[in-house]
Amino acid sequence: MLHACCGPCLLEPFDALLAAHEVTVVYANPNIHPAEEYERRRDTLLAYARERGIEVVEIPYAQEVWAEAVRGVEADRDARCRACFRLRLGMVARLAAEQGYEAVATTLTVSPYQDPAAIADAGEAVCAEAGVVWLAGDFREHYPEAIRRSRELGMYRQGYCGCSFSIAEAEQDRARRRAERSANERR
Ligand code: SF4
Repeated sequence: MLHACCGPCLLEPFDALLAAHEVTVVYANPNIHPAEEYERRRDTLLAYARERGIEVVEIPYAQEVWAEAVRGVEADRDARCRACFRLRLGMVARLAAEQGYEAVATTLTVSPYQDPAAIADAGEAVCAEAGVVWLAGDFREHYPEAIRRSRELGMYRQGYCGCSFSIAEAEQDRARRRAERSANERR
């Protein structure tokens, strides 16, 4: 079972895993805020999946489940993201165990803005608990190709990770990168 966060991030990991596995995609993302954004990302992924004949299972959207998982660590980005990874990958690992799948992977590591070590920690822990194999995969090297293909396909590409906190954090990160670029240009 491949946990997918969005359509653009699905492209490369799905093709890479398909070479050696039968893959079912699971959309398990109660972190995404607001609901319209959740639906937009899901519908982008589903439209691509339909064209390719890819099986997708959606775990029903329940933002309160995510809020409960990160309660107390909302302001600590690292701790919050770790709890968020554990929640989403845990949902997929338990579903995989229930339905007799052997292994779980995620598309989250396509993004260079995510922490692959934190994702691997979460994936290993929840898969060990559920009794399935964690297929660790660092897909960051596929990011440029994922961007190229998603542009070519006209896919919606989001400007922030997903939760309400990440909207402001993404804007701060962009402002910092702009400041760093202009400082470098002045040198
Ligand atoms: S920034 Fe992304 S990974 Fe971190 S808690 Fe928010 S949605 Fe989850």
